[in-house]
Amino acid sequence: MTRSGEPARGGSAASRAAILGALRRRGPLTRQRLAAETGLSRATVSAVLRALTEDGQVRESASRVEGGRGRPSSVVTVNPARAELVGIELGRAHLAVAVADGADTVVGQAGHEMPVGTSVTAATAEALELLDRLAAERGLDLSVVRSVAVGTPGPKFGGTGRPSPDLALARFAHDRAEVANLLTARFRCPVRADNNTRYTALGEASHGAGAGAANVVCVRLDEGVGGGVVVDGSLLSGQWGTAGEFGHVSVDPAGARCACGGRGCLELSAALPALLTATGTAGAAALAEAVTTGPGRAVLERAALATAQALAGPLTALDVPVLVLGGRVARLPGFLAAVGETLQDLLPTWCAAGLSVRPAADDGAAGALGALIRARAAAETGTALSMKRMKQ
Ligand SMILES: [Zn+2]
Repeated sequence: MTRSGEPARGGSAASRAAILGALRRRGPLTRQRLAAETGLSRATVSAVLRALTEDGQVRESASRVEGGRGRPSSVVTVNPARAELVGIELGRAHLAVAVADGADTVVGQAGHEMPVGTSVTAATAEALELLDRLAAERGLDLSVVRSVAVGTPGPKFGGTGRPSPDLALARFAHDRAEVANLLTARFRCPVRADNNTRYTALGEASHGAGAGAANVVCVRLDEGVGGGVVVDGSLLSGQWGTAGEFGHVSVDPAGARCACGGRGCLELSAALPALLTATGTAGAAALAEAVTTGPGRAVLERAALATAQALAGPLTALDVPVLVLGGRVARLPGFLAAVGETLQDLLPTWCAAGLSVRPAADDGAAGALGALIRARAAAETGTALSMKRMKQ
């Protein structure tokens, strides 16, 4: 199998792109429909299909003509065995991978938990092993991958500038660069790296709890607090590339100084470690029990109030009606309801009336799916927010 980019045989690069584009948009098509969709002549369509078939990019198979009369016509599909896009999430405690073919269809997904503190080098090696196993099981060809995106923990500074260096933040940047180098060496194609929670938000917005909504705020409250904002179908990046860092929204002007340099950040009062300390419990299970009654309940309500305070501004100012909350804090009994009730009190009527507060799917797959969408955007093969699910 050869990579694209060779001299075009049987049709110009533009004709090939037009035919592949039509197959991505419309799914399997007959030659006749391909000619109609692209405006190309039947002869050009035939010549281009010959070249694309030789390259392994498309497949043609006979299908019955409706009504059973006439010759069977062939149907052209993008070859689902070509793994063209890869999305990876290397979270703090889990990793996940997702693969899409040239028609933006997710053709494979896998993931598992990982010990906290696993080095990025080891985590990357595990992700690559997982991809190889997936490829072997599904008969996928990973040699034609043309775009990869990977999400790793910690804010990512990019955009049009760079804030002053900070040791803790420099470590995240170092780890992210290390992962990107390892993946570039493996796939020899462009690799995008970003914050994993932002990709998780994109995955939740497109395939999880926010699916179908064009304007979604997703927040994950766990060891840390982070998230992402999807407005008009696009994941916001912002000046520094850190849009969605809800953990560092100040909710207490008299609060403690945060490691980020701000004061009274949400993460200091609503992340899991803060709740464990405040309730004197040792784990999420004990915490879930502690917050149902007594002083533990007050701790939960304070965290929910802080979360609602941090989110009221973005939800109102950006006109976003769907709030997706994930992570172990969001799953504590009563947390979502408390956030929702407070927001009903804080928000203007038009926002409050349409607000939908939803639990994240939190299935560990959203980060890799969000990365896959980013990989697709980077490869400029499509503009739609979602990927098609493979028919099982
Ligand atoms: Zn902070």
